[in-house]
Amino acid sequence: MARKNDRRKPAAGARKGSGPGLAKGPAKPAGKAGKAPAKPSAAAAPPAPKVKFRGRVLENEALARHTTYRIGGPARYLVMPADVDDVVKALELAQDRGLPWVALGLGSNVLVKDAGFPGVVIRIGKGLDRFEMKGATAIVGAGLPTPLLARRTAEAGFAGVERFIGIPGTVGGGVYMNAGAHGAEFAEVLTEATVMDAKGKIRQVARKQISFKYRSSNLGEEPPAKLKELQGRLLRWRKAGTPFDQPCAGSVFKNPGGPRTAGALIDECGLKGFTIGGAQVSSLHANYVVNTGNATASDVLKLLEHVRKTVAKKTGVELELEVKVIGT
Ligand SMILES: Cc1cc2nc3c(=O)[nH]c(=O)nc-3n(C[C@H](O)[C@H](O)[C@H](O)COP(=O)(O)OP(=O)(O)OC[C@H]3O[C@@H](n4cnc5c(N)ncnc54)[C@H](O)[C@@H]3O)c2cc1C
Repeated sequence: MARKNDRRKPAAGARKGSGPGLAKGPAKPAGKAGKAPAKPSAAAAPPAPKVKFRGRVLENEALARHTTYRIGGPARYLVMPADVDDVVKALELAQDRGLPWVALGLGSNVLVKDAGFPGVVIRIGKGLDRFEMKGATAIVGAGLPTPLLARRTAEAGFAGVERFIGIPGTVGGGVYMNAGAHGAEFAEVLTEATVMDAKGKIRQVARKQISFKYRSSNLGEEPPAKLKELQGRLLRWRKAGTPFDQPCAGSVFKNPGGPRTAGALIDECGLKGFTIGGAQVSSLHANYVVNTGNATASDVLKLLEHVRKTVAKKTGVELELEVKVIGT
């Protein structure tokens, strides 16, 4: 995966304890995960007040349905907020029941454990997917799929995020992960983010307050046809080197920062195709671990540990996980 720099830093609003919010720039991060302090009576589990959500709330929903790995046990609650108020209500639900919570986008960079998540998963998607151009600035909801952001800005004739065309997550997840491809990353194009903290309080955060790497490019005007042609080329290039036909979560390890990428190191150790249970190091791209059909999260975790240890032993490089592990 061509990525300029894989050392990702969470957006200020995306650190532990902040919650899903709205974004501006081309992005909108929100909170990552938090744990609501249990109220004294939480053990007795008084029924939470019947909160009315505009969106959907599913109980014991299999998270495998909401991750690109198609792996993951159930969430106690999966909230699909229809608007920002619903996000606040989801945080209140967690607070009232003393449950942990976590934000989820399209689940394209997470590995949810087989036992699932015993709290509230707040899935930021439809309803929080606003897209509007104000001059050369895109005002974007965290739930907007990143490829749509890339397509719509390109169609409007603005360059800056066109290279994100093949990143299969949401804008919120992209900002949180500082996702990037083909030499561009979210840190370069975000101008401001609207974030929500664990108490549902919303605030604006300027890009300079967010601790990811500054780069020089920004949104600028380009002919739409030129951007479309570039996107076609990038997609063809990605297709050739990405196991898009198998469930996975993109690159599993961060590039270590030296001359060799994580994929090159894993390949060098002869691990392409190495399999544990249903989890396999992709033969197309060594930094991808695919679910060949019946993988459990435990298979994936065992395989990741094997790869990490082998690479450390053979090359001396300690690989760090990029994929986020959710659950207990
Ligand atoms: C085939 C494939 C190719 C990929 N190629 C690339 C690539 O080229 N470059 C790249 O960078 N990545 C790539 N990825 C990884 C992934 O698509 C990106 O990291 C993406 O930005 C994750 O977005 P998401 O919405 O799926 O986030 P999720 O996977 O749902 O979540 C990832 C993390 O972000 C947090 N999060 C999600 N939404 C929010 C929110 N609204 N507010 C706060 N925190 C949030 C979650 O809690 C979690 O910690 C690829 C993945 C796949 C499956």
